[in-house]
Amino acid sequence: MEFCPAEPHHGIVFERVDLVDTPQVPALIEYIVPKPRCTVISHGDATVSVVEHVMAALAGLQIDNCLVRINAPEPPGCDGSSAAFVDALLKAEIVVQDEDREIVIVDQPLLVTESECIGIGAQPPRGAEFEVGFFLDYGPGPISCQSLSLEMTPQRFIEDIAPCRTFILEKEVKALQANGIGQRATPQNILVFGDNGPIENKLRFPDECVRHKILDCIGDFALLGCDLRGRFIATQSGHRLNHAIIREVKKRARPPLGKITLPFPSSLLVLSSNQRRAAG
Ligand SMILES: [Zn+2]
Repeated sequence: MEFCPAEPHHGIVFERVDLVDTPQVPALIEYIVPKPRCTVISHGDATVSVVEHVMAALAGLQIDNCLVRINAPEPPGCDGSSAAFVDALLKAEIVVQDEDREIVIVDQPLLVTESECIGIGAQPPRGAEFEVGFFLDYGPGPISCQSLSLEMTPQRFIEDIAPCRTFILEKEVKALQANGIGQRATPQNILVFGDNGPIENKLRFPDECVRHKILDCIGDFALLGCDLRGRFIATQSGHRLNHAIIREVKKRARPPLGKITLPFPSSLLVLSSNQRRAAG
């Protein structure tokens, strides 16, 4: 996979260089194909699966414009986090472009739910923040009840969220692999929880699981296609609900998507990836 520079208003676009005519798939909610346990986008005959950790890396670093060239149906899994993508992007020069970035501000409370205890709410920001909180409770078992809410900045994303890995229960692995998902998953490249905690692995944070769920939210919310301001709190949610709240946000955004020209701190300016060969 290769992160390539892109012009203002290009957005994040995946390009399948292994297919005839190198078809492109814009990373926008309109192109989502419903699939369990990951985020899949598709346009015409081209599909890119498991885009959420790449999208989180780009959104976490506030990169708005990037062409992601990929020679496979899904990005390299690396260690199940966004760390490798963030490292590659940081080694590149990230440039400020001479255009305002489009920002959507949540201006009224929104809620999407799947059941009494599974849902995501969004609230207007107090200032200019983008805050993501998550509450996770798998009941009795090796993963403790965890809750965390963070106001996201590139620095906080790099340090506190990007290194947090996908996790799974040992008993779930076999069921998934029987369905053709995660064939390459081993305890070395994904956090597999047995009865007594991670198998052949160490946690990077005591609450790494909830941090990874926040990472997934950031990646999925990035399919809005522009910057976001508001406070999001998710309870036990997954990709499907993440997509649903972003559809709600987009539905209520006034066209053109709340373009903001107020002077934001420099860390909030338009950025673009300006790297020719990034991720290996
Ligand atoms: Zn994930």
